[in-house]
Amino acid sequence: MNVPILEIFSSIQGEGLFIGSRQLFLRFARCNLSCGYCDTSIDDKGASCKAEVIPGSKEFTYLPWPLEVKHIMEFICENYNLSKHHSISITGGEPLVHCLVLKEMLPEIKNIKQKVFLETNGTLYEELKQIIDYVDFVSMDIKLPGVSKIKPCWYEHEKFLEVVLNSKAYLYVKIVVSSSVNLDELKTAFKLIKKKRTDITVVLQPVILKEKTLFPTSKQLLYWQELALDYVNDVRIIPQAHKLLDLL
Ligand code: SF4
Repeated sequence: MNVPILEIFSSIQGEGLFIGSRQLFLRFARCNLSCGYCDTSIDDKGASCKAEVIPGSKEFTYLPWPLEVKHIMEFICENYNLSKHHSISITGGEPLVHCLVLKEMLPEIKNIKQKVFLETNGTLYEELKQIIDYVDFVSMDIKLPGVSKIKPCWYEHEKFLEVVLNSKAYLYVKIVVSSSVNLDELKTAFKLIKKKRTDITVVLQPVILKEKTLFPTSKQLLYWQELALDYVNDVRIIPQAHKLLDLL
């Protein structure tokens, strides 16, 4: 079974509650959504995996597909000092699209005593059920349809939240916001979280796009944070950091 990983690199987590933590990233191809602001190259036509062995060097080794789980495990154990990493970030694209691969790979990651950090768009709840026992941290998106330009995923998000909250994994929720946020949608997202638990940390992440006009104003961000605090206890406004630092 090919492991459709596009990139392997060691860097800081650039978003969310664990911003700045050192992680080893395994970035999977493909996604089940197509957000208007997506800035990630996720197609798998290249048929190889690009690995940055010296962190920050922007020098790459190319590992041709097909790649087996054992190849990936050998490669990361031989080339990275895993003891210096907070966790291994399983990211994409949407990694849960590759549930069968994850079912094989995550136990191997646990075997080498590493923590699994799942970055997900929070929609593929049936797939999540199959691997959640191997996951230590979940960074789950809730997509606002007006910002993401996709159909509403409220039902999927709710089911996804249920699966995570029935597990031992640590969860925070990330919501990408732009100046064009629809307040009703934002409130729907907050209500959905509150319905499950009020102690889930929510991160509001301002979108970064070429059209700078879509970047929220300070007034909007602070207002949305106050609004969110009517529903949940802990709300942070955190922009993406890796782009500022020119890191992968
Ligand atoms: S869920 Fe993430 S990877 Fe998928 S299209 Fe949206 S922004 Fe891109």
